[in-house]
Amino acid sequence: MVEKSVIIIGAGIAGLSTGCYAQMNGYHTRIFEMHDNPGGLCTAWQRKGYTVDGCLHWLMNSSPGSEMYRLWEELGVVQGQQIINMEQFYRVEGADGKVLTLYCDIDRLEQHMKKVAPEDTRLISDCARAIRRFTRMNLPVLKAQELYSPLDGLKLMFKMLPFMGDLRRWGRISMKELALRFRNPLLRDAWLNMWPPEFTALFMLITLATFHQKASGYPIGGSMQVSRAIEKRYLGLGGEIKYKSKVDKIIVENDRAVGVRLADGGEHRADYVISAADGHATIFDMLDGKYINDKIRGYYESLPIFPPLVFVSLGVNRSFEELPKMISGLVLTLEKPVTIGGGERKWLYVRIHNFDPTLAPPGKTLLTIMMESNYPYWEALHKDLARYKAEKEQIADTVVSLLDKRFPGLAAQVEMRDVATPVTFHRYTGNWQGSFEGWLVTPKTLMLNMSKTLPGLDCFYMAGQWVAPGGGLPSGAMTGRYVTQMLCKRDKKRFAATTP
Ligand SMILES: Cc1cc2nc3c(=O)[nH]c(=O)nc-3n(C[C@H](O)[C@H](O)[C@H](O)COP(=O)(O)OP(=O)(O)OC[C@H]3O[C@@H](n4cnc5c(N)ncnc54)[C@H](O)[C@@H]3O)c2cc1C
Repeated sequence: MVEKSVIIIGAGIAGLSTGCYAQMNGYHTRIFEMHDNPGGLCTAWQRKGYTVDGCLHWLMNSSPGSEMYRLWEELGVVQGQQIINMEQFYRVEGADGKVLTLYCDIDRLEQHMKKVAPEDTRLISDCARAIRRFTRMNLPVLKAQELYSPLDGLKLMFKMLPFMGDLRRWGRISMKELALRFRNPLLRDAWLNMWPPEFTALFMLITLATFHQKASGYPIGGSMQVSRAIEKRYLGLGGEIKYKSKVDKIIVENDRAVGVRLADGGEHRADYVISAADGHATIFDMLDGKYINDKIRGYYESLPIFPPLVFVSLGVNRSFEELPKMISGLVLTLEKPVTIGGGERKWLYVRIHNFDPTLAPPGKTLLTIMMESNYPYWEALHKDLARYKAEKEQIADTVVSLLDKRFPGLAAQVEMRDVATPVTFHRYTGNWQGSFEGWLVTPKTLMLNMSKTLPGLDCFYMAGQWVAPGGGLPSGAMTGRYVTQMLCKRDKKRFAATTP
């Protein structure tokens, strides 16, 4: 039988995963990627001897025991990879010198929070009980919901029944709502800083459950290591990647996707086209907004997204060995609010990469500082390059001087400074508004299962964070598997997955 051909747009985690699964199922695939590296948002860059890691804090379900782990095995991410599990998630330092440590172990976390905030004992117990319960949950991720039979539905209901109460209860509350229920200001700040405020508290509690189980670790080598591992798996399966190949248009004939036209004018044809690139650009630019309905338009008009970031990186000639290894680092409460990058900041959130020696020369450390920002502000500023550059310098100066107060002498030890803005993220990955993870999962959108096809357009599919609210690397891996299952169903093939 002649292999059917598939063109995939984008070599982010979703595009690479789609390529791997499609190759495993006998499709001939080619990925067109506009950048010269794989990974999309899951990336890193070199600066003055430091590797700036632009993404991974934790790889969800990186240890055996969950369905998601099986996907990481199939994609060749975890084999031979050193994955570390840290004891602390992060630490909030109040302006008054008080400290709250978010331990990964739930018993320790519960005890510590109650000691710091006895007035919140009841709510702390409530959260800890939910986290403990979620440690027993194994989220079903192997099969696309679109392909569920009534029997699959029943099995799922049965499997999730013990968790339904907690899923409903915590799914209805946003991070901000939960944070504001704490009376203790440090606890409130801790929850406010964990994740964007509109995000559902449920996802955070589930994530904390995986930290307790040592199931969501950090792969030494960081983001690019993970992206390269999946790229290697894909190439090993016989796939092809064309780098520096930006897709301008999806070629459509008689309402059927038949190929792509690149920015250099080259045209390439295939039986199927799968976009694993930005959703907005795919729908409104590559397809000129011709294949859409009110529901999909509504997503882009009203659903909240993970905000774009100002991402400051510093290479510091200092070991930070006195600090514990922390997944997300320190939240420093500023003495008074400071305006940085168009927004007022009460906290500075600094990740100290003292856990990964591959990112800095011996005895030195990479620090990264993530600040939620606003795309229009940076888009406007970028029109005047001199002002844009000056603003970036100013941000680096401010951040360094704030950090120097917490770590005296640091300013003189900084040997590398790098500032990425929402415009940078957009330029390098094409993500709409510079978003760092696609759609937020809010209490309103928790149950949303977005379509991976577009109305009226045949032979076309979408994978990645713009069709899977919540985003993250798992969404890329899963949606790659799902669209391949959908192709197999259509071509009456039995879906198969292998491990290397
Ligand atoms: C600072 C930061 C921290 C994060 N932390 C974590 C974490 O700890 N854990 C986690 O799971 N996730 C994390 N994420 C989120 C995660 O990185 C993303 O959700 C995920 O990588 C998205 O993958 P994707 O393949 O769907 O999209 P993308 O990564 O956006 O990939 C899309 C790809 O398509 C390419 N492309 C776009 N347009 C075109 C075109 N026209 N032609 C050709 N190619 C095109 C892009 O160059 C890109 O390679 C983080 C992200 C950031 C930025």
